Amino acid sequence: MTAINIGVLAVQGDFHAHIKMLQTIAEVNAQEVRTETDLAGVDALVLPGGESTTIIKLLSRSYLDKEIVKRAQSGMPIYGTCAGLILLAKEVSERPDQPTLQLMDICAARNAFGRQIDSFETDLTVSASGDVIPVRGLFIRAPFVASHDSSVQVLATYRDRVVAVQQGRLLATAFHPELTGDNAIHKYFASIVRGSIERPK
Ligand code: GLN
Repeated sequence: MTAINIGVLAVQGDFHAHIKMLQTIAEVNAQEVRTETDLAGVDALVLPGGESTTIIKLLSRSYLDKEIVKRAQSGMPIYGTCAGLILLAKEVSERPDQPTLQLMDICAARNAFGRQIDSFETDLTVSASGDVIPVRGLFIRAPFVASHDSSVQVLATYRDRVVAVQQGRLLATAFHPELTGDNAIHKYFASIVRGSIERPK
């Protein structure tokens, strides 16, 4: 198996945790992405949790937003967690002015689980290409997917709310697997990346 390079957007948020998690997977090189040159060197990108409004501001300042969109349009896989899910969304509910990368046909509702339970953990199952992956879902001021196009696959729900989705090579979770000891979701993303290299668009 040849090694694949997975970049983690490292402008704000919990990118270190993703790097550490990816480093536990065989034949995966994880690297921080801050510039267009960094982006050119990776096969795929992870958008970490953090503050979606800050991340998008920093991205547009450096024009990295446009480069990420171009790469995604030519088939680069992207995995967004929490703020990363919001960045992937075409729409943000109740905040139509919030800029995003507009790559996935989903509408994200921010901070959607209420103040009193800003953070919580729960057991979930994620259906990924026929496999059922049990995960510990860690939600931190998390969004959910309020609505989505029919081409978007729902991989997990929590109390009837959609919290993990996939559309082609784009994967998004409202929760943070990178903050648990379990690399199953990152492994699943690595399998999407391998598939994209074997079958380029
Ligand atoms: N609430 C944050 C936002 O709207 C996301 C929180 C997170 O990434 N843990 O961007």
